[in-house]
Amino acid sequence: MASQEPVNPSHAVFDLFIQAQSCKDVKHHFVELCSELDINPKDFRTFYTKLKERLNYWKAKALWTKLDKRASHEDYQQGKVCSKNKCLVLGAGPCGLRTAIELTLLGAQVVVVEKREDFSRNNVLHLWPFTIYDLRGLGAKKFYGKFCSGSLDHISIRQLQLILLKVSLLLGVEVHTGVEYQGLIEPSGENGWMAKLQPRSHPAAAFQFDVFISAGGGRFVPDGFKHKELRGKLAIGITANFINGNTAAEAQVAEISGVARIYNQKFFQELLTETGIDLENIVYYKDDTHYFVMTAKKKSLLKKGVIKQDYADAEQLLAPANVDHEALCRYARDAAFFSTGGKLSDLEFAQNHAGEPDVAVFDFTCMHRAENASLVRERRGQKLLMGLVGDCLVEPFWPLGTGIARGFLAAFDAAWMVRRWGKGVPHLKVLAERESIYQLLSQTTPDNTSKNYAQCSIDPKTRYQSVNLSSIQAHQVQHLYDVDKSYPASKKQMDRWPTMRQDSSSVSEELLKWCQKHTTGYENVNVKDFTQSWRSGLALCALIHHFRPQLIDMSSLDESTSAHNNQLAFSILEKELGIPPVMSPSDLVDTGQIDKLSMVLYLTQIQKAFTVPAK
Ligand code: FAD
Repeated sequence: MASQEPVNPSHAVFDLFIQAQSCKDVKHHFVELCSELDINPKDFRTFYTKLKERLNYWKAKALWTKLDKRASHEDYQQGKVCSKNKCLVLGAGPCGLRTAIELTLLGAQVVVVEKREDFSRNNVLHLWPFTIYDLRGLGAKKFYGKFCSGSLDHISIRQLQLILLKVSLLLGVEVHTGVEYQGLIEPSGENGWMAKLQPRSHPAAAFQFDVFISAGGGRFVPDGFKHKELRGKLAIGITANFINGNTAAEAQVAEISGVARIYNQKFFQELLTETGIDLENIVYYKDDTHYFVMTAKKKSLLKKGVIKQDYADAEQLLAPANVDHEALCRYARDAAFFSTGGKLSDLEFAQNHAGEPDVAVFDFTCMHRAENASLVRERRGQKLLMGLVGDCLVEPFWPLGTGIARGFLAAFDAAWMVRRWGKGVPHLKVLAERESIYQLLSQTTPDNTSKNYAQCSIDPKTRYQSVNLSSIQAHQVQHLYDVDKSYPASKKQMDRWPTMRQDSSSVSEELLKWCQKHTTGYENVNVKDFTQSWRSGLALCALIHHFRPQLIDMSSLDESTSAHNNQLAFSILEKELGIPPVMSPSDLVDTGQIDKLSMVLYLTQIQKAFTVPAK
């Protein structure tokens, strides 16, 4: 309405900021807004308050109401609880930005570095109800009017990043794009922990911090963390984005929120007969683009010429040189056309970041997951708390939409960890609590997380149905505290180690006895330690068989097929008991480098799962 058009220049700039559709424009209008209102965004502590005071605009006020409500939660203690902490967040993906927002609400100084210049991912993410609720609470609808209207439960990665970037900036987070993190620089002289960045002379390179959160995305493993690989049967995914002209006809085309072969044999059979395309499942979401994602069978990809040559190794199979791009485009377009009943007649590819048709083929046979979610490093007496969030903590399984849901849960868990750190809780306890919570992450579903969304906060107790913050204890996470033992300032800490070790060894002895008791009598099983005795995998299988004989057939196992035995035990423990592996099954077999602490941690969880009655 004409009467609502802003006359005040700062109001007009605020509107441009809110509506900006690229990372560059968001940043540009933000700088303009700050200059118009004469506020320095570097004064992060007072920035948001000044913004509210000086921008007396009804549209802004509606947003402040939302953000104030969030900020007033008791967990943040009016932004004082982490006011002494300085946090570097690596990656401005949805999870890095979501974490940054929580850290700034806790009162910390937060700097985000992102290597990309722009947000260009069209692919669409499925959102669980709690994430929709959470994003609405941050004003998502004010930034993106279409956000989850009606029954929609998805959003493009790009739009999600834009929303979170805008909220981050308004709350005083410093976000630097086009800046690549290349590693940590240990404290020296007067300097504390810093990051090696590219470009080297970037001002953020001078930032000294005591918390480092890595949200670098799938397969990004910062120094000090280890990933393990969970291998399933070959799974080839294809994503495709087509231009959405937003016509009435396009709006009519029904979305497909997931059709799996087992539920609709007829559809997939007809698709195969008519087009030669053989799929396991397909999803179609409408957002800025028409987005399709499907799992294709290798045989049909070979037959349709998408994959040129067959290889057993998935990496070789899907290497760019072995994929015919034209044939891939045809395959994706035909699948999209057929599955929407021919109603999307103009299937023209949207462009990806490189200006090419936005279609991709990827392998999701292997999922990666970090062995631990946190670490503390101490050099020259200066401690650094490190945490992982998002895909670099646990790679998502896209058909279930776990990327954002578990990504946000981990973002909140990391914020809770920083809160404990800020409150001065002993660092081993902070780590033990974080690892206790991490054990629950891979088991979360929309059903077993709290449905009281209004109560959900960074406090894990408000989100996980039954969380025991001391399921892992301080003595079990000593290996996550990495200290330069020669440095005198660490001596006080070191002096406490012998007693901890003593506690730890008596706990280990009990655990060993428990393992021996429940594996006696099994052929080729002789538990004497936490390393070699577990190599063949038979001891783990025997433990499972002792408590749940229906889950495993011991007579089918052979001592010589240790890779198979370990893989079997690991996957049963994960699927049936929700125990995420603390190492890769191959660690037990190939390298002979069985890490005693990891094994103790793993067995402790197994013991707990078998002995604590289910609630
Ligand atoms: P990301 O969104 O991957 O963000 C990580 C960020 O870190 C990136 O912006 C990256 O540029 C930055 N970064 C990495 N290394 C550095 C460094 N050294 N220095 C500075 N910055 C760095 N999920 C689905 O459910 N469906 C899909 O179709 C789908 N498609 C995807 C397509 C692509 C190309 C990618 C990368 C991911 C896709 N995902 C998909 C996964 C989904 O995007 C993530 O689960 C979700 O975005 C949350 O991830 P995140 O924030 O942890 O990581």
